[in-house]
Amino acid sequence: MQAFIGLGSNLDNPEQRLISALSALQRLPGVTMLHHSRLFSSAPIGPQDQPDYVNAVAQVAFSSTPHELLHTLQALELAAGRQRLRHWGERTLDLDILLIEGLNIDTPDLQVPHPQMIHRAFVLLPLLDISPHAHLPDGTALSSFLKQVEDQRLSPLAELDCDALIE
Ligand code: AMP
Repeated sequence: MQAFIGLGSNLDNPEQRLISALSALQRLPGVTMLHHSRLFSSAPIGPQDQPDYVNAVAQVAFSSTPHELLHTLQALELAAGRQRLRHWGERTLDLDILLIEGLNIDTPDLQVPHPQMIHRAFVLLPLLDISPHAHLPDGTALSSFLKQVEDQRLSPLAELDCDALIE
């Protein structure tokens, strides 16, 4: 199955954290990195007295179940020394499952499509960067949600060639 995974960080050298996370993702057993976006810088949602975030989206193929993928991503977050100080507050690494092919999942610990994804420029733009025709399971094009996030500040970190850094 294929999934889109959202990555975000705003603590402890977030650019390097995302590069390390992309690198760790593609080395996971049973996971193949198909594409990843550039890194983007975004203004925080929630408390404003925290650093900007660095975000990216990866498209992977995986051979486990969706819940096993979630647990694997949570282990990567923990390994990155994830700290959660407050709701929507700063964090060292956040990994979200955004979409899994045409699946709708609604369980207590996993909802796919990620319920917030259509409201967040830092998800939509990097995802559309690597998959311009991506859509929700009901067929709605993700590009149709761009209008509602156009006020959110997001800029590509163009100076960083992360392909050269990921091994
Ligand atoms: P957060 O780290 O703030 O994004 O939220 C983590 C919590 O969201 C965990 O308890 C997960 O079980 C839950 N969760 C629900 N759906 C998802 C999803 N699609 N991707 C990642 N975490 C999810």
